[in-house]
Amino acid sequence: MTHGKPLIAGNWKMNLTIGESVQLVHTIAEGMSRNVGVEALVAPPFTHLSEVNQALKGKPILLGAQDIYWEPSGAYTGEVSASMVKEVGCTHVILGHSERRCDFGETDDTVNLKVQAAMTEGLIPIVCIGETLDEREQDRAFEVIRSQLDGSLKKFREENEIPSNLILAYEPVWAIGTGKTASPEQAQEIHRYIRQWLQENFGDAPGLAIRILYGGSVKGDNAKELLSQPDINGALVGGASLEAESFLSIIRYDEK
Ligand code: PEP
Repeated sequence: MTHGKPLIAGNWKMNLTIGESVQLVHTIAEGMSRNVGVEALVAPPFTHLSEVNQALKGKPILLGAQDIYWEPSGAYTGEVSASMVKEVGCTHVILGHSERRCDFGETDDTVNLKVQAAMTEGLIPIVCIGETLDEREQDRAFEVIRSQLDGSLKKFREENEIPSNLILAYEPVWAIGTGKTASPEQAQEIHRYIRQWLQENFGDAPGLAIRILYGGSVKGDNAKELLSQPDINGALVGGASLEAESFLSIIRYDEK
């Protein structure tokens, strides 16, 4: 497989002050050994991006936004474009997070538009998908994942081409912020399914190269067993990314 280093991405959501954010990235960077075998990324709130970007200069941590709007500019009160987050130093953007989907009406169609807007601006999208507890209990997890992939990556399917640097994140909604984690086997089963979907739609090269992160109550003490699965290529971390020690314990999962 050719998907390079695992990515450990911290989604800070609507947390931390600017001062706390700057302090946090300094402490995380200090705690990362020079040859750490993973890529690390943080996704602060929009208002913190510029200062966090300054604090990250020369540090081995990437910067991402938590969302963008799909139009490049215009009368869209409250929205932020791909070029705006790029200008403040972002290289990545999280799209279609379940909190956006469940609480703010995000749909596969809007995720599809946002993914294209990000790519046009040279931002790497981290596209989130995942089933709810109801859907899992009704044995519909695979069907839901397929439908989210079909819709959120629709434009790529129409063009029969997908960029290999795109990142997907499987986040079962029932495991986000709940302390419940999918077992390594449950996660691997869905990751394998996503990998097969990629290969079926776009062929082996991008299908094998695209990193698929797992998200849902990842912590230092479960990171290793999850990240040792063959199709899990990193983690999207919420709660445990808000403190340096807990985030570092995930970054260093392989040293245990
Ligand atoms: C997330 O919000 O993407 C997430 C996985 O959160 P947590 O790690 O807190 O479950």
